Amino acid sequence: MSVEKEIKALRAQLHQYNHEYYVLDNASISDYEFDMLLKKLQTLEDQYPEFDDSNSPTKRVGGAVTKKFDTVVHEHRMYSLDNSYSQEDLLAWEKRIKKTVEEAIEYTCELKYDGASISLTYENGFLSKAVTRGDGFQGDDVTNNIKTIKSVPLKLSGEGIPEKFDIRGEIVLPFEGFNKMNEERIASGEEPYANPRNTASGSLKLQDSGEVAKRPLECLLYSLVGNKLPLKSQFESLDKARQWGFKVPEIAAKANSIEEVLEFVNQWDAKRHKLPYETDGVVIKVNDLKQQELLGHTAKAPRWAMAYKFKAEQVSTTLESVSYQVGRTGAITPVANLIPVEIAGTTVKRASLHNADQIEKLDIRIGDQVYVEKGGEIIPKIVGVNVSQRTGISAPLNYATTCPECETTLVRTEGDAKHYCPNEQSCPPQVVGRIEHYISRKAMDIEGLGGETVALLVKENLASDFTDLYDLTVEQLLPLERMAQKSAENLVNGVAASVKIPFEKVLFALGIRFVGETVAKKLAFHFKTIEAIKEADQETLEAVDEIGTRIAESVVAYFSEESNWYRIEKLQSKGIQFAIDESQLPKVSSAKLEGKTIVVSGVFEKVSRNELKKLIEEHGGKVGSSISSKTSFIVAGDKMGPSKLEKAQKLEIEIWDENRFLNEIEI
Ligand code: AMP
Ligand code: ZN
Repeated sequence: MSVEKEIKALRAQLHQYNHEYYVLDNASISDYEFDMLLKKLQTLEDQYPEFDDSNSPTKRVGGAVTKKFDTVVHEHRMYSLDNSYSQEDLLAWEKRIKKTVEEAIEYTCELKYDGASISLTYENGFLSKAVTRGDGFQGDDVTNNIKTIKSVPLKLSGEGIPEKFDIRGEIVLPFEGFNKMNEERIASGEEPYANPRNTASGSLKLQDSGEVAKRPLECLLYSLVGNKLPLKSQFESLDKARQWGFKVPEIAAKANSIEEVLEFVNQWDAKRHKLPYETDGVVIKVNDLKQQELLGHTAKAPRWAMAYKFKAEQVSTTLESVSYQVGRTGAITPVANLIPVEIAGTTVKRASLHNADQIEKLDIRIGDQVYVEKGGEIIPKIVGVNVSQRTGISAPLNYATTCPECETTLVRTEGDAKHYCPNEQSCPPQVVGRIEHYISRKAMDIEGLGGETVALLVKENLASDFTDLYDLTVEQLLPLERMAQKSAENLVNGVAASVKIPFEKVLFALGIRFVGETVAKKLAFHFKTIEAIKEADQETLEAVDEIGTRIAESVVAYFSEESNWYRIEKLQSKGIQFAIDESQLPKVSSAKLEGKTIVVSGVFEKVSRNELKKLIEEHGGKVGSSISSKTSFIVAGDKMGPSKLEKAQKLEIEIWDENRFLNEIEI
């Protein structure tokens, strides 16, 4: 078999396995076998770049970086939906549309998925573009990011696939994956994401598609749009889309009357909590496409469709008490303790009250009957108080004035919604929390040491700060509960191994308030050394991309504290890294290639294709995926594809070799 044929066969095979696994939920080979085939394909593609294909299954892992998303005008406008909240609303809608449509009307009922809307364009059976809704007229081109979502078919199969069409749907983040992402964030001391919907839509706009690939996003599709599509009804188009390889939810039903529509609504209002993702209503559509056409659109939404919003489930229960939790940074979170109550399929005993302002706003009092709601958020919230049931003796709640863990007087700085316990040095949850954060996977990643052991070390006075970890000896550890020789050695070795951890992670590990993983990276790569960060004033810090006032203030405050400087000195004396490893940095960067779109083709001697692409971006250029009149020049190596060469010559585009390119950017 020729190499080209082999590559194509592998791609077809992998597209099929991918479809089985992510769309049909029914894999026919093991993960290992899949990975091996993918690896094989990747190797061949690296070796024979002339057979490159932007829709190859290898493109799923991401890697493409989008600095700025291009705006794309939707060929077919993306409308919104009108909302209804009651049977009367639906009957009124039916009455309106019956004025236009004389024959009987059949409806399709689908769930309304709560995510980010997306429009995918397919041409000749291949995904060619993915665009966000934007304002409905134009959106952002997020194709690179969407390609990493495994349930989005890059290549369609089946019969009767139109030459060109759009398919619309929703990018959702299932609860399971969302919760897992949040557990990791909490473990590394970052704020958890508020809800799956915002996280899904935020994911579409990440610049690094490699990051998107890591998120367990799904794409549910529900509507085909195009010119003269061979379809008669909405229900049929759901079926067709499913046959062509799209993930179209099975939950859809036809209804002949509003009564039947309401049956579907009631059935799913109860069952939807068992679904793996968030839904917030039912979308009812006139099934017949001819009737849809007759009805047309208003300025904002189709007349032939209607969303019916589920009521957020609300229950009432009694507030028994309010307790206060102390976080790693000393931030206090008030928590409502409730008489347990069933809501959306789970028992709820506690609800977050956020902060003192929220409590004041609700004027919530112990013994009150409160309304608890579970919306898109995972943690239920208190949305109101049933004041009519209040007994005369209740008094407004006095917010805690001292720390529940160490009794230090709480402080609240102006502009900050939260109270803090200022006793950083010896407030137990802060001490333990800081050490836990320091050793966590995304920070110093210290093996052989877990949360329980940290608490024990603090309790036994063996550590009151993460810098103390470096003084621990096997002999000191052995007397501890459940500590064997082997585990003591592992702990000491794990701590010693942390000298390998790069500066950006060390900076994150220090636990400076508001300096999360990404901010730490930004600061580390910008300033390069801890000394430079220490020297930077408020203004210098704020001048860095993505660093705002709040972060800058916190960094300045951190370094004005002498004890922090001692900490750093001690870590430095133990060999911890406080400067960026220069060998990892791009050698130079400039704006030499600004405004240029450059296509890379072939195999190179001095740099890999990926390095070359990185260089182009570091010097301000854009990497083009195919040769067009917009291409500024081509960097070609060995084995540039003959069709590319022909195209370049036809369009009279200059071809540079590797050496000329490297000279030009002076490497
Ligand atoms: P809204 O954003 O409230 O105007 O609601 C309209 C949005 O609902 C559409 O843009 C879609 O993104 C979304 N939606 C979710 N599920 C469906 C569905 N089954 N059919 C049509 N639209 C849906
Ligand atoms: Zn405290």
